[in-house]
Amino acid sequence: MRPRVSLCCLPTPCHSLGRLGHLLGLDLWVKRDDLTGFAGGGNKGRKLEFLIAEAVDQGATHVVTCGSSQSNFVRQLGAACSVFGLGCTAVVMDLPYDSGHGKPVGRFPQALGNLVLDDLFGVKRVLVPDDDWDVLFARTEAVARELTACSEKVYDVPIGGSSPLGAFSFTLAAEEVGDSWDFIVTPTSSGSTHAGLAWAFHGSRTRVVGVACDPEEDLRSELVRLAAGVDALTGCQKAMSDDEFELRTDYFGAGYNVWSKAGKDAIELLAKTEGLLLDPVYSSKAFACLLDLARNGELFGKVLFWHTGGLPTLLAATGESL
Ligand SMILES: *Cc1c(COP(=O)(O)O)cnc(C)c1O
Repeated sequence: MRPRVSLCCLPTPCHSLGRLGHLLGLDLWVKRDDLTGFAGGGNKGRKLEFLIAEAVDQGATHVVTCGSSQSNFVRQLGAACSVFGLGCTAVVMDLPYDSGHGKPVGRFPQALGNLVLDDLFGVKRVLVPDDDWDVLFARTEAVARELTACSEKVYDVPIGGSSPLGAFSFTLAAEEVGDSWDFIVTPTSSGSTHAGLAWAFHGSRTRVVGVACDPEEDLRSELVRLAAGVDALTGCQKAMSDDEFELRTDYFGAGYNVWSKAGKDAIELLAKTEGLLLDPVYSSKAFACLLDLARNGELFGKVLFWHTGGLPTLLAATGESL
């Protein structure tokens, strides 16, 4: 057995979205990983049960990660570090972007949402001016080196908790939902949620569709790397190649962390038909894709939407966000 700590309320609920499903002509369900229950919920709690266990096992005193200022991962990581008495430093940018695509235009309010919660959990934020993701990663390595020089035993967590161990946690999550699905639709960004689910359903009739929430060109190779890492962790060789991941790259809109019109419409539709809240950065963009695929007949049968959480960023939004 792999070291694991208990943080989440598992299994999360899975229920039908009957009203919207009827409108779309689908047997539509939702997996409520927005209700993992730890520190406001969301998909990162599952990864953290394994990542924090490894940090504790290695005798770490301080955990370092990076992300956007409004990162849901940083919030949940900060809370987990509190539970285990670990220091937590997050190197963040308000709007990290892929310089190949240019900086997206858009405004995301910063002082609310996850930032309020990070402060409660005692996260130390190092704010770096907006720039390319690679600049953020380099700064994070430098901060980790500085902490090590100050006698901290540092455990580095990749962005979004997307290590093979993070992906492994989603192979177990897959077991909670059984194998009766034609499609599972999930947002994907750092990749381990998508990679873990795709690995788990590989070779079955269920098609796992990941909807990219940022224009990161390396995402597909990242999925391959994470799935290979799960092969190594489990000793079960699936050797997934890049064409075995269904990845939609037409729904991130202007860029990561910036609302899209289609996403905003999806938020309103889910609120008004099902009383269900999506977030502006991830789940709304994935749901916008689900809606289009259903309307043009590419999705059919029994469909599961994997809700990954993110409510604090919805609460941070203002009328100016779009
Ligand atoms: C991090 C996050 C995702 C993306 O999951 P990855 O495993 O990083 O790809 C999706 N939705 C929400 C709300 C998230 O916080």
